[in-house]
Amino acid sequence: MRILLTNDDGIQAVGLRALHRALVAAGHEVHVVAPVTEQSAVGHAVTLSAPLRVKEFRENGFSGQGVTGTPADCVKLGLSTLVKDRPDVVVSGINAGPNVGVDILYSGTVSAATEGALMGFPALAVSMDDFNPVDLSGQAQYAAELLSRLPLKALPEKCVLNLNFPHRPVGEALGLKVCPHTRAPYEDWFEVRTDPRGRPYYWMCGEIRPERISAGRDRKLLSEGWITLTPLKIDFNDPGTISLLESTLS
Ligand code: MN
Repeated sequence: MRILLTNDDGIQAVGLRALHRALVAAGHEVHVVAPVTEQSAVGHAVTLSAPLRVKEFRENGFSGQGVTGTPADCVKLGLSTLVKDRPDVVVSGINAGPNVGVDILYSGTVSAATEGALMGFPALAVSMDDFNPVDLSGQAQYAAELLSRLPLKALPEKCVLNLNFPHRPVGEALGLKVCPHTRAPYEDWFEVRTDPRGRPYYWMCGEIRPERISAGRDRKLLSEGWITLTPLKIDFNDPGTISLLESTLS
């Protein structure tokens, strides 16, 4: 397959490099177009106020194009301009940190895949429930193998597949669960710290309250040790509320 590979942790991240190696080893033609700097949690942002620059990265066995923009920028620029032959699939990751539940709204990793889906491509986002991974070769190999078994041609339009690995060696995962995503939002708070000049600054923290995490959905299953695969449909329409508003406002 021909694959556009991107991420939000940056072109030099452990997860992207591991996935690149695994996909190339599996015989795929891989084009990397990824942010030059980390773009975690930028969501679906696009750059309109500045030009995008492209930097070539070539190091033993790796070649890719780094873009001075967001994950969604990379996919737009890659699919429209940089990659000459149409890819079969857009793959994003492997992200350092899980992307489950409402993370899909904040995640640059998932947004890159979403952009691919909006542009008419099958899309897979891959994340790991570990913010400081050292070696993701096992997860990368698993993802590459799974990719070859996914029914990409049978997927509906504007569908994103969201794959997450649990915080344990891939060989010790309980198995793969296809499941819906958690719907509970984060409860955030801000740590107030003091900078070297005595002024306060604020750092966002947050968690989903454990009692709000439903069984059988991605956050819970991932914590239990399952590899989770969640199909996402991009459709914000709400027919029920259209009817309610029409009847209320008419
Ligand atoms: Mn990230």
